[in-house]
Amino acid sequence: MDLFDLSGHVSIVTGGNRGIGLGMAHGLAEAGADVAIWSRNVERNEAAVAEIEAGGGSALAVACDVADEASIAAAMDTTIGRFGQVDSVFANAGASGIGKFPDFALDEWHRVVDVNLTGVFLTTRAVTDHLLERGAPGSIVLTGSVVARMALPLAPHYTASKGAVLSYGRALANRLGRHGIRVNVLSPGWVETEMTEGVTDDERSAAFFLARTPLRRWGAAGDFAGPAVFLASDASRFMTGAELVVDGGITSA
Ligand code: NDP
Repeated sequence: MDLFDLSGHVSIVTGGNRGIGLGMAHGLAEAGADVAIWSRNVERNEAAVAEIEAGGGSALAVACDVADEASIAAAMDTTIGRFGQVDSVFANAGASGIGKFPDFALDEWHRVVDVNLTGVFLTTRAVTDHLLERGAPGSIVLTGSVVARMALPLAPHYTASKGAVLSYGRALANRLGRHGIRVNVLSPGWVETEMTEGVTDDERSAAFFLARTPLRRWGAAGDFAGPAVFLASDASRFMTGAELVVDGGITSA
């Protein structure tokens, strides 16, 4: 038996059309899962699906705004209509931003928290309803961040949202374990994506962060393929309420 085999398994990856989400989607598809990519940008969703299919995988592009309840309901219908079921979800869609507190607008707070926290709530609630209705086990994975522990002074909303995701994951794990539904948080360190362009392109930031990262490099989207397969599959079957930190070692430094 291959503990990592995901044949016959259906995964949703929110924010799966680029960056860390696309890295996870590639890994899941390579392990045999059918993967639904839920993000807003239609062209990028289709490009991500084309990439996965070119590698022999099965994927579906679903236009979805995770901060919108109706959009989540429609995305669930589309996904189940095509694949028949959902077995795991990676609530990974995220937004970030910077601002100097206390000169900080409420709109900016909502822009980030509505995606990073409310979006995680809406996504996981929809998938949990489906799993409970089927009486099926499942794996829910939330993308956290090492900033939940390290803090970003210029991004209090982002930092707070990721701290909340960690607590929310533990609450769900305790609520849903009796139904065979596992809930874990995957916390990346600094990863080279569109979200971090301003940091990874900046020489001083690079010198600061890379000197503190034992592996001496930025993370890459592909570094999240293996952890995603592990968390979706039977390989992690006794793991719930946990945080898997994938950060090149920066939080150990
Ligand atoms: P990117 O900016 O590269 O990707 C963000 C993804 O989220 C895109 O696919 C985007 O697609 C999607 N997205 C944003 N808003 C919404 C929304 N309202 N509804 C649906 N999808 C949305 O970021 P990363 O890949 O770097 O980040 C992925 C996750 O990892 C995030 O949760 C982030 O906070 C977290 N993270 C990232 C780290 C890093 O160093 N990069 C470190 C720690 C955590 P679209 O715009 O088409 O909707």
